[in-house]
Amino acid sequence: MTTAHQQEIVQLLKQIIEPTLNNDIVSLGMVRNLRIVDDYIYLRLYIGSHQHQLQPEIQSKLSFLSWCKKTYIQICTIPGVRTTLGISSGKGGVGKSTTAVNIAAALQLQGAKVGLLDADVYGPNIPQMLGLGKADIQVINTPTGDKFLPLKAQGIKIMSVGLLAEANRPLAWRGPVLHKIITQFLQDVEWGELDYLLIDLPPGTGDAQITIIQESPICGVILVTTPQQVAVADVRRNIYMFRQVGVPVLGIIENMSYLICGDCGSRTPIFGSGGGEQLAAELLAPLLGQIPIDPRICSGGDTGNPIAISEQASPASEVFRKIAIAIGLSFAHRT
Ligand code: ADP
Repeated sequence: MTTAHQQEIVQLLKQIIEPTLNNDIVSLGMVRNLRIVDDYIYLRLYIGSHQHQLQPEIQSKLSFLSWCKKTYIQICTIPGVRTTLGISSGKGGVGKSTTAVNIAAALQLQGAKVGLLDADVYGPNIPQMLGLGKADIQVINTPTGDKFLPLKAQGIKIMSVGLLAEANRPLAWRGPVLHKIITQFLQDVEWGELDYLLIDLPPGTGDAQITIIQESPICGVILVTTPQQVAVADVRRNIYMFRQVGVPVLGIIENMSYLICGDCGSRTPIFGSGGGEQLAAELLAPLLGQIPIDPRICSGGDTGNPIAISEQASPASEVFRKIAIAIGLSFAHRT
């Protein structure tokens, strides 16, 4: 009976279309944790700050169900934030944080208001990549309680779990403490108005990553990989995890795809080729871009000058720009 009711609910919810994304709220992964207990429906609705109208729409749609006494909707949103995107990778060291910083920079250059949440509890290095040293996080008093104020660098608002930790100490948070810190970070940062919040997720498919995905209104993830087979296999696992929790995968970025010869401009695929393309074809997720190996990407990260801003004519910046345009087109923002 419950399964039949569940199907009935999903059918009705599929009739609700999110107007900017032009797709139904179930396919967009906005409805999760759907449960029926006795004759009551419980669900979680993951939305951006501009999508609150969906709640009454769901209520009115489900009121058609004669057996349902009441629908309880738990809203999962980040105040002021329209679109939350996750940047993920199967393993560390593939350039996930570098990619997150440069996409944030490219979006910002296109006029978007951008925030970057460094939630990589195992290696939070976003502040350093944007030239921020160890800074004290300010706490302000708001009508909804005390909130952390994000820092700002290169026009991007930044918050990082690393800012809570002591310098040079690994973050040894586990289980409930980790869960509490992550949810606090998602709920208690005063971002102001943002078009995009990019969340730099921890690599892999562990506890921390699942908590962040479940507690934040991530409406899509971008997966970063390198061309090697091992990295590709890790991303495959990663994609399955996102699909299991119902978060759409927007696409794959292949990093360190090739080296451009300074003399003749020829491209050498140092780490092999075809990994990103193969994965994109297999998993039906678009290949959003292939980023070359460029020492300026590395030095830009070390000195806090992302290449997308400092070397805008470089081939790597061109790729980041195209990815930012693709994101802008997908979410049809004011950029
Ligand atoms: P992750 O977040 O996946 O652990 P990082 O973004 O920290 O990886 O990158 C790891 C290292 O590789 C950094 O030193 C970074 O500057 C460097 N790096 C990443 N992408 C490139 C690239 N395309 N060309 C050159 N160096 C890169």
